[in-house]
Amino acid sequence: MTWIDPGFPRSATPSDLVGRVLGLNPGMMTGPGTNTYLVGRTRPVLIDTGAGEADYPALFQSYLRERGWRRPERIILTHRHRDHLGGVNQLRELFPGVPVAKMIYRDSGLPEEVEMLENGETVEADGATLIPGHTPGHASDHLCFFLQEERALFSGDLILNGSTTVIPEEDGDLGLYMESLARVQALGVKRIYPAHGPVIEDGPGKIAEYIEHRLLRERQILEALGGGPRTIPEIVKVVYAQVDTRLHKMAGQSVHSHLRKLKAERQVSEETQPSAPSRWSLL
Ligand SMILES: [Zn+2]
Repeated sequence: MTWIDPGFPRSATPSDLVGRVLGLNPGMMTGPGTNTYLVGRTRPVLIDTGAGEADYPALFQSYLRERGWRRPERIILTHRHRDHLGGVNQLRELFPGVPVAKMIYRDSGLPEEVEMLENGETVEADGATLIPGHTPGHASDHLCFFLQEERALFSGDLILNGSTTVIPEEDGDLGLYMESLARVQALGVKRIYPAHGPVIEDGPGKIAEYIEHRLLRERQILEALGGGPRTIPEIVKVVYAQVDTRLHKMAGQSVHSHLRKLKAERQVSEETQPSAPSRWSLL
């Protein structure tokens, strides 16, 4: 499976209760594009809206027609990133008055009239019940949606299929991210519907793999620091020795997210240097 798969179906009906329309925004960060999901039997709720690509509204409407649906009842968003809420205004033009909600948390510059979605409140679609769960780490406002009838999880960008999640410097937090993974692990989910990539049939397996991957990186970084103080580029050279050097800048961001977590846990210390990268040491 390639991450940016040009053959990824533009729409699909993965279950009785779930339809999928692709946001048509492929790329390094988004894979085949953002998945937008319609949940329910006759009056569906839409999860996420893609990036606002010009061809998305026509694709969305053709999928509605295929299902005999008139419009989405409501739009709910997993988080504030552009590739998830960029299509809100397009859809409001098509479906005037459609309510839009997300967890409003440290937000600025949202589209107008976005309502607050609380952790744990119930979102009823006909025949489907969605429970939002606050799952920060990739973004501080991030929600996953648990679909009770299927014991399935709409994971947003917490869990992807085909890549690992980015923990941005500004709004990301790897410690919170790990807690969020543990939280969804405890739900006992079956399927996962990720915001990027195909459906994950073995939800528990994927969650365990995600947790194990981060724990492995953490062990490797602590090991690299065992030989004495190191800068991030020096750590990357050791830990990502097998990885294409073009990806080392991204890898550096990932290592930094680990180091920030370890620093908060008082496992490592940071020695800043004027006009040179910080040196990190074990405590
Ligand atoms: Zn995101």
